[in-house]
Amino acid sequence: MSGLVIAIDGVVGAGKTTTARMVAGRLGYRHLDTGAMYRAVTVAATRRGIAAGHTASLASMLAALTIDLEPDGRVLLNGEDVSDAIRRPEVTRAVGAYSDAPVVRKALVAQQQRMGAAGGIVAEGRDMAAVVFPCAELKISMVADLDERVERRYRELQQKGMVITPEQVRVDIETRDREDAARDYGVAGEGPEVTEIDTTDMTLEGQVDHIVALARQHGA
Ligand code: C5P
Repeated sequence: MSGLVIAIDGVVGAGKTTTARMVAGRLGYRHLDTGAMYRAVTVAATRRGIAAGHTASLASMLAALTIDLEPDGRVLLNGEDVSDAIRRPEVTRAVGAYSDAPVVRKALVAQQQRMGAAGGIVAEGRDMAAVVFPCAELKISMVADLDERVERRYRELQQKGMVITPEQVRVDIETRDREDAARDYGVAGEGPEVTEIDTTDMTLEGQVDHIVALARQHGA
């Protein structure tokens, strides 16, 4: 293995994706944004009119689907750049149902484990520590207050030119919190304990510095 596996988990809007990308950049590691993969599957399925409950259709779609996470952050679906499409609010609303489908989880978890097998990776998503990389050397859980998460996500969507109100963002985040709370991603029983980081009053740079420092302590 060349480099650690760092697993970053956490609530919606706690800053996982940006932080994970920057930590990976600082350490010279790859960034594995697993949420982007579930979002890409959602885009592919909705375009084809395949509902989340259509297991057979999903299975044949997945068999012919390539998802590439490019080093520059772009997400490619069968070679097409879907980086913006996967962040659209309607995809955010639909992704929960597709990510609950066992056929989708099985395919993506296997791909993620292949991508992380060589180490030197910052893997981000709900089930990283418990399911995908239970032996990750460093396991982080990021949390933040709801108001702060709404504010951050609203700013992010506005910067992308999306028309949405803070109230809609709040409803979306609360809905996803409820959905996540109802899901069982298992417990991170193997390997080291999970370190919780509350990012409410932290700057992005502060979060990145903190995780990089922890990674260095673990031999990165
Ligand atoms: O992190 P992000 O908001 O992009 O994740 C989108 C959705 O993908 C989550 O709300 C969740 O439904 C699903 N997801 C998942 N397992 C992961 C990562 C994301 O089920 N490892």
